[in-house]
Amino acid sequence: MDAAFFREWIVESAAVVRSHRDHLTQLDAAIGDADHGINLDRGFGAVCAALEQAASATPGAVLMLTGSTLISKVGGASGPLYGTAFRQAGKALGDKPEVDLHAVAFALDAALAGVQKLGAAREGEKTMVDALAPAASALSKALAEGASPAGAFSALAGAAAAGAHATISMQALKGRASYLGPRSVGHEDPGAASTALIMRALRDVAARRGQ
Ligand code: ADP
Ligand code: MG
Repeated sequence: MDAAFFREWIVESAAVVRSHRDHLTQLDAAIGDADHGINLDRGFGAVCAALEQAASATPGAVLMLTGSTLISKVGGASGPLYGTAFRQAGKALGDKPEVDLHAVAFALDAALAGVQKLGAAREGEKTMVDALAPAASALSKALAEGASPAGAFSALAGAAAAGAHATISMQALKGRASYLGPRSVGHEDPGAASTALIMRALRDVAARRGQ
């Protein structure tokens, strides 16, 4: 997977965030301040513009630029958290022109570690960590079991979606939704939902490119 692959993933992520913008905002309206879809859509729009301007030649550079742009353009909790995730993933990929799935698994672990260092959320606290952590472990597990690339990407996307769905029954213990206490139960976490969309975009781009 080269820089073009990662650009396509980010552009696809921007497209799915745009088409789910209102849904993500509605999820945030239920337990937050109704801006998650708007925040992410603005951020990914800026990322696409930045990627068009810059000739990022490596997968790592594409993800670093994605992360830096999200940090500078997205307000709220999710901008710095997503920005850190992409920056840490980019750093983990280093400056190789092409990376394999093991490197992607390593990068996803680094993204998760970055989010947890910044936000201090553990699994079960109803945040994006509840989609990202299962996605990262599902990918590592699939690789350890010798899954095909298509199988590994499907496991990643499936685990993220299941993780996001599982946040419905959780009580929020981090972020704005935690102010609601037990009233946060019964709604899907918007950040977990957007993480699942971004992981699904990765699976779809890999399938399209025959990875
Ligand atoms: P804000 O909460 O500032 O309005 P957004 O609405 O854009 O920001 O993003 C909210 C999402 O951010 C939540 O749904 C949750 O997934 C994520 N989030 C909030 N706080 C944390 C945290 N400490 N750790 C991980 N994710 C968090
Ligand atoms: Mg919000």
